[in-house]
Amino acid sequence: MGKPVICEHCLTEITDKRDLVTASFFIFIVPYHAYCYSQGLKGVKTFILNNYPLNGVSGNFSAMTSFIAMLILLIMLPGTAKYFAIVPAILIVGRLLSYILYERHLAH
Ligand SMILES: [Zn+2]
Repeated sequence: MGKPVICEHCLTEITDKRDLVTASFFIFIVPYHAYCYSQGLKGVKTFILNNYPLNGVSGNFSAMTSFIAMLILLIMLPGTAKYFAIVPAILIVGRLLSYILYERHLAH
């Protein structure tokens, strides 16, 4: 079902959802094996990758926090300053894209 999800680090297919870690890489969202992600964090990409994955518990938590932050910004900020709410909105979109692009293709 669906397209194969290929790990950005070792270039082999990720078959188990529990093994999938998605991370934002500039404007791209890239999938890794959990192991490859931890290896990647130790390497050169440390400064570019987020320190936490988009998916899983921490990803869901930050998406929820972002959503609350966005609501607070929309309510509290006056007029055009409301555009600052786009920052947490981008994080929420990243979380959704991680799901749409990769997580839904894996069975577990
Ligand atoms: Zn891998």
